[in-house]
Amino acid sequence: MPEQPHPGQPEMDATPLKRGVTRRQFLFQMAAAGAAVSAIGPLAASRAQMIRPVRIDNPMTEYPNRDWEKVYRDLIRSDDSSTFLCAPNDTHNCLLHAHIKHGLVTRISPTFGYHKATDLQGNQPTQRWEPRCCQKGLALVRRFYGDRRCRKPMMRRGFKRWGDDGCPRDPETGAVDADKYLRRGQDPWLAVSWEQIFEYSAKAMVNIAETYSGEQGQEYLRKQGYDPLMVDATQGAGTQTLKFRGGMPALGITRIFDMYRAANSMALLDDTIRGTGPDNALGGGAGRGCAAAPGPCRSDHCDQGARWRGVVR
Ligand code: SF4
Repeated sequence: MPEQPHPGQPEMDATPLKRGVTRRQFLFQMAAAGAAVSAIGPLAASRAQMIRPVRIDNPMTEYPNRDWEKVYRDLIRSDDSSTFLCAPNDTHNCLLHAHIKHGLVTRISPTFGYHKATDLQGNQPTQRWEPRCCQKGLALVRRFYGDRRCRKPMMRRGFKRWGDDGCPRDPETGAVDADKYLRRGQDPWLAVSWEQIFEYSAKAMVNIAETYSGEQGQEYLRKQGYDPLMVDATQGAGTQTLKFRGGMPALGITRIFDMYRAANSMALLDDTIRGTGPDNALGGGAGRGCAAAPGPCRSDHCDQGARWRGVVR
């Protein structure tokens, strides 16, 4: 039933507008809103007259209301902290603070503590090195909790298959079928257990060391096209063809000597395979080439291998 006009109110067009509101209702509501605004207006204006402009000569020493800062202080406050060494593949080893809240690292900051360190003679570094940190270190929180962080050992599918197939090699050259098993950059990665990765890694190391040991091993290497000087440098020890990426030696002082130790420990394997005795056993190679592929470093795999070949020549 169409709405009747209020007494004394001029009759209006009651054509429905969109969403079920009649033109008359709309105009009536607008008039009511205008009346409310005009009633509030004088009140707001009188209140505004009470607000006086604030004059602050030095906002660092006084400010009328700093309560809003509490929000930011609560956000940045931590309930625990930890000191750690940032050690990606750069050479800086910055000593950093992890700020922890509710058991999670929320941010990272420099320690500003380098100048406190002393060497054995009591020398101290200059404070001008501070702050030791960079954006990569500050962003480590995202790596800690990032969904792309590696939380399990990863193995290339082809490498696993090579191990599962019994580590087959070409009977003529001793080479692994690269098209079938060594599809770096193409094979998917498989997440495996630590037990599995240890088992497959040990199996590969033993296979490589056995394959390239002795005269037969050196012959395999020559047939695969390795430089005769490189082949001679192995002295017939297959363990010499195992590469462990040890990084830059100076960094080993703080963190990565493990790979050098692992390379040296291959002398035990050499002794087991060739029966050399402890004085003549040879370990693996560290700090050159890469350990990514079973078998010796190939110059066509990467420029690092090519550089190493240049060094040998
Ligand atoms: S904070 Fe930056 S410069 Fe320092 S070790 Fe980490 S990545 Fe290197």
